[in-house]
Amino acid sequence: MKVTLQNLTKQFPSRSKKEKQPVTALYDFTLEIPDGSLVGLLGPSGCGKSTTLNLISGLLKPTSGNIFFGNEDVTNVPAENRGIGLVFQNYALYPHLTVLKNILFPLENLKGKDKLSKQEMLEKASQAAKLVQIESLMDRKPNELSGGQQQRVAIARALVKMPRVLLLDEPLSNLDARLRLATREEIKRIQQETKITTVFVTHDQDEAMSICDFIVVMREGKLEQVGKPQEIYDNPENLFVAKFLGTPAINVFDGIVKDEKLYIGSDFIFDVPGVVDTTVKVGIRPEGFILSENGHLSCNFCGVEVMGRDISIISTNENSENKKIRSIISSENKVDTSSSIVRFDLKPSKVFIFHGDTHKRIHFSVN
Ligand code: ADP
Ligand code: MG
Repeated sequence: MKVTLQNLTKQFPSRSKKEKQPVTALYDFTLEIPDGSLVGLLGPSGCGKSTTLNLISGLLKPTSGNIFFGNEDVTNVPAENRGIGLVFQNYALYPHLTVLKNILFPLENLKGKDKLSKQEMLEKASQAAKLVQIESLMDRKPNELSGGQQQRVAIARALVKMPRVLLLDEPLSNLDARLRLATREEIKRIQQETKITTVFVTHDQDEAMSICDFIVVMREGKLEQVGKPQEIYDNPENLFVAKFLGTPAINVFDGIVKDEKLYIGSDFIFDVPGVVDTTVKVGIRPEGFILSENGHLSCNFCGVEVMGRDISIISTNENSENKKIRSIISSENKVDTSSSIVRFDLKPSKVFIFHGDTHKRIHFSVN
């Protein structure tokens, strides 16, 4: 099911007596979610991810704008008639019911022509349980399950009616690190098996990058950039997006462009043909550094971290926004640890420049 969000704005009335202005949680948000895709809404806390999800689900009504499922305008369709499955961070299972009864619950509430026989319900519950691999836990109560298992039950419950759209709001946040990794792979697998259009909300860029077909980067209620994970990583449209994606994070320097040449401090970095004179922010991905005796960028050497195949050189530079600059290079490189200065050349495809004021990307052609 294709989902289209058209110019959605959501305002909440102010909560405090002093501040009379309403809160704009989402502003003029337009997005097309392709049928059968797994889309990640990514952004820092408070940027409007849950609001967007709740608008899709129908739990919230937009202040203005429209929502379509396929060609059907569902803006005024109540949540229970939209055919959605919802999973939240806190599993929200019924504690007094067994796993089986929890999964059956949405089916038992079906009325009229949708009503199922007991046998049909049990079959559907068993299919959903199989999909998330909890068939052996059907008789347990939620408090007899691990967090990961509880979340699987919640996913099974959301899937049992085979929703048109599956909505997951930070479903992995309550799990420990190892389970988080395993469960995110599970979500990917389940999505691929069912091909249900799925919207996955997270503030964790790693999570979004690893499983989503498309990522929607959000900031303060607005859409910053949409694309495939690798595309956004390789081609961020502004400094915010560049900083939000990637671990270790991108290194950001203050720089200037003068006479089509890029400088960080007094270090000439490389030619940037076609770029007019301006102050810039220079973003350099950790893998964009090349250790080089006569390298153009000079930094103060702090130390080396070994990461197996690669090593990470830690350094500082007075023009760097980051306290520590992290550059990842192959462990075959020899680092002169006795020197106080380390020099780098830079891979132009891993260097982004952004306008000093607007922080919008400035494209340059690589010679
Ligand atoms: P996220 O899920 O990205 O952390 P939310 O969508 O929950 O963000 O919230 C976006 C903004 O809207 C925040 O500033 C939040 O405080 C505000 N907000 C969310 N729900 C309400 C509400 N019911 N009443 C007032 N403000 C709200
Ligand atoms: Mg949220």
